[in-house]
Amino acid sequence: MTIYDLLIQNCNVLLPDFTVLPNAVIGIQDSRITLLEAGAPESGTYDAKEILDGDGKLAMPGFVDAHTHAAQQLLRGSVVDELPMVWTRILVPFESNLTPEDVYKGALLFCLENLKAGTTTFADAGGPFMEMVAQAALETGIRGVITRSTMDTGSDIPAGMKESTQDAIRGTEQLYEDWNNAGDGRIQIWFSLRQAMTSTPALMEAVAQRSRELSTGVHIHLAEHLAEVAHCLTNYKMRPAEWFDHFGLLGPNLIAAHSVRLSDKEILLMAERGANAVHCPHSNLSNHGFSKTPLLMALGANIALGTDGVSATRLNLFEPMRMLKYAMQARHGVEINDPLALPALDVLRMASQGGAKAVMQEKEIGKLEVGYKADIILLDINKPHLSPTAHLPKTIVTAASPDDVADVIVDGRLLVHDGEFLLMDEDQIRREAGQAMLNVGRRANLSLESPYLE
Ligand SMILES: [Zn+2]
Repeated sequence: MTIYDLLIQNCNVLLPDFTVLPNAVIGIQDSRITLLEAGAPESGTYDAKEILDGDGKLAMPGFVDAHTHAAQQLLRGSVVDELPMVWTRILVPFESNLTPEDVYKGALLFCLENLKAGTTTFADAGGPFMEMVAQAALETGIRGVITRSTMDTGSDIPAGMKESTQDAIRGTEQLYEDWNNAGDGRIQIWFSLRQAMTSTPALMEAVAQRSRELSTGVHIHLAEHLAEVAHCLTNYKMRPAEWFDHFGLLGPNLIAAHSVRLSDKEILLMAERGANAVHCPHSNLSNHGFSKTPLLMALGANIALGTDGVSATRLNLFEPMRMLKYAMQARHGVEINDPLALPALDVLRMASQGGAKAVMQEKEIGKLEVGYKADIILLDINKPHLSPTAHLPKTIVTAASPDDVADVIVDGRLLVHDGEFLLMDEDQIRREAGQAMLNVGRRANLSLESPYLE
């Protein structure tokens, strides 16, 4: 007699090749998928501690948001339509006035928003007090690849946000010692370099070396702005990707957020080194320009998707999938009559398998397959915008939204059921985040009109 911890019956399953297996059953034991097949197991041969009815639902891998800013969760509504310089006028006073309590309250809201939108793993670019983000991830059940943002140079960075090269490295090492592999491996700690302009060569060298020694990854912002390209060309006679490669940082353990202002040669270099490009279409289209996604794909680079945090968008990967597909079509497809500039199933792959590879967990998550971690979301497909359809996976890309997410399982544990978060009081998380937003707004002297209205 096989005893499952959780059995999902009568569901449609999105398989790794992006076909759909109808009327299937998924069995979960401990944290992993141990059964996935059509039909139902023979009666009398199994038992289940918990059964989930998957009728009218599509089971698919949880999304991997490969570029987030949990510490900026309380900036929602503060950045949209603001004139330059948003960094000096808003981000710097905001981040430098955060307390650990603010970060924790914001991070709970961040985890809640992610889970309810079907994002089961996030990779964060870092901020202050990241141990509080790890704590919130641990408590809410989500999977997180967390970093501590480090800056040891830069003329417009205030003293409080900069630190010595040694302190920058030591700070991440401490976070790693305290939190790496917490929550049965759900929490992973990586290094982070905010970007080329705020990192000395010594810091880049040290991050390359320590990440190698600890077999962990590095999260950076790459090729976002022309100022960054000019900085690297002026000071180092290299373009940004070449500059990172100079330190051996361009590799399969690198998340290169944005990766927009790249030359064709840099794109080839990224593909050759196996570095992961993470596009964030909301940020890219408003601040950075069009990415060269079709070329990155043609040269075999791994691509993942990110939101870049709530200051730009709602936390979810449904909208970025759609936005990137149509942006690439407009930029690269229309003028040469190529309707396949970025096919729908490729963006679906980026949001799942691409993200899993970017966080170096492609053998654990990103696919529904026996042996994989049970990070599963169930979409309610009995909705007028989703069914009937001749091709459900393509329709997920063109029409689905976070509100279609009914159930969310991470590491084998049911966290969201029928759209409700099971572990904590959602209203309390929102209320306390609202109070924290008000507090940091006052301290930072930012005008927040209505952080929380009952
Ligand atoms: Zn970012």
